[in-house]
Amino acid sequence: MLLLIPGPVQTRPEVRAVMAEDIAPWDDDFRAEYAAMRPRIVKIAGGVEGRDVALPLPGCGHMMVEAAVRTFVPAGQKLLVVRNGQYADRLIRLATEAGRIPIPVRCPDTEPMTPEALQAALDANPDVTHVAVIVSETGTGVVNDPNILGPVIAKAGRRMICDAVSGFGALPFRLSEHPECDVVVFTSNKCLEGLPGFGFAVAPIERLEACKGNAGSWVMDLADVYKHAVVNGWGSFRFTPAVQSLRAFGIAMDLYEAEGGQPARLARYRRNADVLYDGLVALGFTPYLEKRHQGPIIVNVHQPRDPNWDFKRFITLMKGRGVLISNFWNTPEPTIRIAAIGAIEEKDIRFALAQIEATLAEMRIGQRAAA
Ligand SMILES: *Cc1c(COP(=O)(O)O)cnc(C)c1O
Repeated sequence: MLLLIPGPVQTRPEVRAVMAEDIAPWDDDFRAEYAAMRPRIVKIAGGVEGRDVALPLPGCGHMMVEAAVRTFVPAGQKLLVVRNGQYADRLIRLATEAGRIPIPVRCPDTEPMTPEALQAALDANPDVTHVAVIVSETGTGVVNDPNILGPVIAKAGRRMICDAVSGFGALPFRLSEHPECDVVVFTSNKCLEGLPGFGFAVAPIERLEACKGNAGSWVMDLADVYKHAVVNGWGSFRFTPAVQSLRAFGIAMDLYEAEGGQPARLARYRRNADVLYDGLVALGFTPYLEKRHQGPIIVNVHQPRDPNWDFKRFITLMKGRGVLISNFWNTPEPTIRIAAIGAIEEKDIRFALAQIEATLAEMRIGQRAAA
């Protein structure tokens, strides 16, 4: 099956193979293996060993995002949230339920946040200490570039929290160039092409030490994850981890480095996304985003207006042809969401486009443009 979804992504067989072995997280051999992974993760985030640390938590990305919000934004305090899609709404919800006060900074969900709009929101909210940025908004496919927004946040003397989950490892970001950044958050199962099971935060030690006691949660306290590593060693865990997934992530990092790291991965995904976007347009679909705003992670097109259109049937027929795409959408209007990430390349995208064309013919969908 070819998976074209924004996580868990298609993985390479070498990554999956290591999951077959039973291992114990506290075993000395695995401790050493895990301890050696942490500086590599810092490096991928563009952090500086000794200044920044990698803090893994077993679980999904949302849990890691909540851990970041809890750790760096004290309870009862406000944070601005760059809002141009549903993943921002998710951050707003989890921050609210954690007792923080999110303030959305809105822009159309078909466009990236502009530095001007963010500047205006910062000016209007002098009491807000933090800005949360959804770097690649998985709801729509737009990219809010922290390399553009970060300096605005820095100049205003505020702090940045990056939900980099969907684009981390592909989109360029170097923590060392962002003194305003408290934390960058991502998972094992998106652009780093590992298996699901782990979230990661990379954060400066100085900030973790300053934020002790904020979290109001033991399980999700990144400052406590840090303290535990200092006291018990960098190969130790607080609780039972998804240990096989972590070992697989080590293999995924080997493959990432062998491919050429971030520039190579971005180039492959960009090519995938371009071929996908152009191919869908050629088939008659209306893209959700203008091409200039189309990020490399996920492509959304409006569902066709044809009377024969049946979304569920389309997804099922595509699955029968060996291509799995999301059976839901995250845009206000009905769309089809197809990811360009994972262990896939141009030939896989071309295969998927051929299956889409055949499925549309089978369903007798002539009117493919937006309703
Ligand atoms: C995938 C994703 C997450 C995390 O999703 P989980 O299902 O919790 O792993 C968070 N933010 C963004 C932008 C994502 O794409």
